[in-house]
Amino acid sequence: MPIRILDAQLIDQIAAGEVIERPASVVKELVENALDAGATQIEIDIERGGIGLIRVCDDGCGIAAADLLLAVTRHATSKIASFEDLETIATLGFRGEALPSIGAVAHVRIASRTRADEQGSELRIDGGSVGEVRPAAQLPGTTIEVRDLFFNVPARRRFVRTETTEYAHIIRLVERIALSRFDVAFTLTHNARVALRLPAAPHAAQQQDRLAQILGDEFVSRSLPIDVQAGPLHLSGWVGLPSFARGQPDLQFWYVNERPVRDKVLLNAVRGGFRDVLFHGRHPAYVLRLQIEPRDVDVNAHPTKLEVRFRESRGVHDFIVRALDRTLAQTRPDMQPAAASASPFAASFGGNIGAAAPRPGAAFAFGPSKLPDTWQLAASVRDAPPSDLGTAIAQLHGIYILAQDAQGLVLIDMHAGHERVLYEQLKASHSRGAAASQGLLEPLTLELDEPTLDLLLAAREEWEQVGFELDRIGSRTLALRRVPALLAGSDVVALVREVASALLEEQGGAHHLDAAAHRLFATLACRAAIHAQRRLTLPEMNALLRQMENTDRAAQCNHGRPTFARVSLPELDRLFLRGR
Ligand code: ADP
Ligand code: MG
Repeated sequence: MPIRILDAQLIDQIAAGEVIERPASVVKELVENALDAGATQIEIDIERGGIGLIRVCDDGCGIAAADLLLAVTRHATSKIASFEDLETIATLGFRGEALPSIGAVAHVRIASRTRADEQGSELRIDGGSVGEVRPAAQLPGTTIEVRDLFFNVPARRRFVRTETTEYAHIIRLVERIALSRFDVAFTLTHNARVALRLPAAPHAAQQQDRLAQILGDEFVSRSLPIDVQAGPLHLSGWVGLPSFARGQPDLQFWYVNERPVRDKVLLNAVRGGFRDVLFHGRHPAYVLRLQIEPRDVDVNAHPTKLEVRFRESRGVHDFIVRALDRTLAQTRPDMQPAAASASPFAASFGGNIGAAAPRPGAAFAFGPSKLPDTWQLAASVRDAPPSDLGTAIAQLHGIYILAQDAQGLVLIDMHAGHERVLYEQLKASHSRGAAASQGLLEPLTLELDEPTLDLLLAAREEWEQVGFELDRIGSRTLALRRVPALLAGSDVVALVREVASALLEEQGGAHHLDAAAHRLFATLACRAAIHAQRRLTLPEMNALLRQMENTDRAAQCNHGRPTFARVSLPELDRLFLRGR
């Protein structure tokens, strides 16, 4: 075949393949146009999974009759005029491709009216052939109807799934968009039944209603609001508590400047922020919105605009990790118990949302180091009034502490709780750069094989920051001249040996220094924490509970497991069919 230039209609059909993959893509383009037009109310009507009809009706600025033809012309847009505009883009659209692409593969009717106009006008476009602009009855705003999608593209039509599947994509898309703009009201109907009615939600209570409709009541009661600003970066939204983490990453919503995105830098940052509190293989739930200078982010990375590129991705990443970490640090045992659960057996794990006021002065409660073992009772909290984790009554099977509080009973995993307490203390002394440390008159020595010793000494700085002084006195001999006050009295030699071999096992891959330090602390905390079968006295148990109450993130151990569970009196009553 000789080379020739494709005709415009064919170009539109080819381009449609890129932008319009399925009915949900049409909904996305039309709703984004409505938002760009400043709509405050958007109604979306769907028939037969979007194959029959997609109608989006908005009360936005409208299109003047004289512009209607241009609106369906390729590369015609009112949103940018120059490269400079592209750099600072604030609208969702800017390519001028959606309407001509949709028009190329469906029967489309566009009716619109600006506020200045007395009358509306309409234009039809059928499989790429554009009709004439005519007067039409229309309120200010725009209504776009798309019928028989892909009627002229059988290949694409075959890829469309059942109505149910396509509709599922649409509802998920509308929910995703609705979480980006609480100031706009959305209605979605399918086959004339209202599926979503989301009034505008300018205030917190209404926002919670919208969140509950989309993510469920449980997300609302088990999430924390987040709102952190640093220079030009602003992160806001809601993060599910670690105990609300899920088996699939299905409740994760990211927005950059109100644009829904799926971006690696952001996903990694969340992982980093949850690093300390999430059980392995679980996925956090969240709605997170990042506001950033439009200049510092490129949204033109892909036609569907799901991917973005940050100019300073490291800075964005670190900001998010810190903001999440700080927010999640509030998950202490003193948070409100969960709303009464339906099943009497469903204890509420790991605290809950509430006015999660962090406690003032989380003073470290480890007492004088002459007390035996790693487990030390803090004199200062000995007489503390019974508080949120209650008063210890007994130890169960050498694993759990049974406590009672005003609401019922509390079960505490003593190892998990102590592990978190130690871990937070180690991290705190690391960030202060000085740990309480105890010199030994006689250094302790231990023999290790050379690679293990090498590896251990490679992290010497971190060991020293938490209060060790290490000295190699032979190719395979290590001397400990100082040990952390925190660990004084425990079998430090065995501890160091265990941690060194655990680090050797975990080795592999270059690690960010900070992450390496945290791994060391986590391993130290895990090995040093009281182990099962240790008999604790009641004062020791109570001291642990008081320390947990004063420890950030104490609702989970550093592997993300819950550290305590509550069973309320009403739950106990139900168990025994009392009061029925
Ligand atoms: P883009 O959104 O990239 O500009 P589109 O093909 O989606 O391209 O739309 C073309 C133009 O039509 C837009 O720039 C806008 O001026 C106009 N338009 C489309 N939909 C609407 C609407 N709902 N309300 C007002 N104007 C609209
Ligand atoms: Mg558009």
